[in-house]
Amino acid sequence: MKIQEADAKGLLLAQGLPVPDWSVAHSPAEARAAAESILAGGAERVVIKAQVLVGGRGKAGGVKLAGTADEAEAVAGSILGMTIKGITVRKVLVAAAADIVKEYYLSAVLDRAARRILLMGSAEGGVEIEQVAVDHPEAIITIHADPLLGLQDWQARDLAFRMGLGGHLKAAVGVARGLVRTMLANDADLVEINPLAIVRETTTDGTIERLVCLDAKVTLDDSALPRHPGLEALRDPDEEDPADARAREAGISFIRLDGTIGCMVNGAGLAMTTMDLVKRAGGEPANFLDIGGGAKADKVATAMALILEDPKVSAILVNIFGGITRGDEVARGLIEARARQTRSVPMVVRIVGTNAAEAADLLRAAKFETATSLDDAAAKAVAASRSMGTSTGAGR
Ligand code: GDP
Ligand code: MN
Repeated sequence: MKIQEADAKGLLLAQGLPVPDWSVAHSPAEARAAAESILAGGAERVVIKAQVLVGGRGKAGGVKLAGTADEAEAVAGSILGMTIKGITVRKVLVAAAADIVKEYYLSAVLDRAARRILLMGSAEGGVEIEQVAVDHPEAIITIHADPLLGLQDWQARDLAFRMGLGGHLKAAVGVARGLVRTMLANDADLVEINPLAIVRETTTDGTIERLVCLDAKVTLDDSALPRHPGLEALRDPDEEDPADARAREAGISFIRLDGTIGCMVNGAGLAMTTMDLVKRAGGEPANFLDIGGGAKADKVATAMALILEDPKVSAILVNIFGGITRGDEVARGLIEARARQTRSVPMVVRIVGTNAAEAADLLRAAKFETATSLDDAAAKAVAASRSMGTSTGAGR
């Protein structure tokens, strides 16, 4: 689950990381009020930032500075309602504008292959790190945290020095360690600060330079959310795909893909296998869909509706291995779903295991096309899709 910058900053702050104060505004008037109090506190300018769950807001015109409350209101008015990568901006972050000396990049990401948290740092901050990785891979410094020992001080110091942050060693070590803590405390997959910036601040003692997190991106592990009841509240319903929300509420794992063969399967492993077999038969799966164990008829109907909403789907392959899930329940769900469906596409059903015989009787009576082997089912689904006159997308 992706969360908004403002919420990500909250998680960083909870781990003691240096994040400048911010507030969130939903209207130009709210942005004006926030700007007034920030400017009254002595700031010269405020920064106003679109809160959308996509990167590159700066480039898209979603990050702007304002010097007065009037200007802040106008700028917020121009950012609210604009579209960034197809998403409408509904809220903005308002903060005192930082006087940036230099921008760095620092992130912690779950490296599944290494089974460790990977820290990535670079002196090339502020720009898209993917581009840095392509143009100057040597400019990205990587360090793995040990799962038992954690990120050790010498590692964090080494990272900071090689990023060119030797002048802010203590602060940089603190941020690196804080990113690892943020990962662990929230079961995050990614915690990214871009830019991590050295900023100039005027205090009563004169001008100082400080390291602060100016942007924050956090992705949480969906499967770990039940361990963190408080984090569920950070889900932004404004930006969740309605189909994803319905799948989640029904307890269905659903991921849209580019192909034409809709797949309905129980079990993640069987779903992966089914997708492989569709490909081997010359087709392309339109989705990954796991209805889970013990699915009842209404869940099957919901899954069918999700698959059919994708206009690319020209055939459906249902592959159920009855264990806890009863084959006849699934068959009833399919019959019910077909009675309700608004669009008709060929469907091939394979149900084996618990109550397979009852399922077969129901499906035969309802005139469904069935298959006994998985290879046969995949071949029939691909042939049916072809006969619908659409490309299977093979070879993409
Ligand atoms: P992103 O484009 O979505 O990653 O949004 P960022 O928060 O990273 O902002 C993009 C860029 O705007 C940063 O790299 C900075 O150069 C600039 N920026 C962001 N906040 C401030 C600020 O407080 N002061 C100044 N001067 N520039 C800022
Ligand atoms: Mn950024």
